[in-house]
Amino acid sequence: MTQDPRKTSLMAALQKQGIRDSRVLDAIATVPREVFVEDAFSDQAYADQALPISCGQTISQPYVVALMTEALDVKAVHRVLEIGTGSGYQSAVLSHLCKRVYTVERFRTLADKAARRFDALKLKNVTQTVGDGTKGWLRLAPFDRIIVTAAAKDVPQALLDQLEPGGVMVLPIEERAGKQDLYRITRTEAGFERQHLVPVRFVPLVEGLPKESLA
Ligand code: SAH
Repeated sequence: MTQDPRKTSLMAALQKQGIRDSRVLDAIATVPREVFVEDAFSDQAYADQALPISCGQTISQPYVVALMTEALDVKAVHRVLEIGTGSGYQSAVLSHLCKRVYTVERFRTLADKAARRFDALKLKNVTQTVGDGTKGWLRLAPFDRIIVTAAAKDVPQALLDQLEPGGVMVLPIEERAGKQDLYRITRTEAGFERQHLVPVRFVPLVEGLPKESLA
């Protein structure tokens, strides 16, 4: 199969920036990012940058998706919780690496659009809900892996509680205005270990639901 040359150069750029995990690279190469960007930006689908989606949100930069996915260390047997479905792109990448992705989005508009994309791509192992992801997804907890794709001031306690012992969570934290960093948190027997990864820039993790999702 011949690959879009723009996709080939994105894959090369990800490797050059240090993404090594071949399963992660394969998953990214498999998912057609053009399906997840807005039509107006389809010519930029394989540029290594975040792009606007509906509801004032963004689809993350491919490098950041790759980095977070690699840091999450996802295995084929894992049940993964994602907070912030957005376009659905990160969920689609994860769906190729784990047993099932459970993804939570606070905007119904975004969740509905993402659902149509998962259907179109025949991704059968993604389960979605509209809800406030700061509360996790208690009914389906605990999870082997948790990924949060919006920045909170602090790690939501519910997410720590819903992480399986030995589990890993990757999330951006905004400790002070305008300064966000990506962290990997591992749940050990003794508690939680926190490792700093890189500075990042995400939309905020917002508590509660917008009006459009309450109907
Ligand atoms: N993973 C997405 C990135 C989307 S941006 C992708 O691949 O496209 C982050 C998303 O988090 C936004 O859609 C935003 O609405 C959502 N979000 C923010 N706070 C949230 C919360 N408390 N619960 C669920 N989703 C939330």
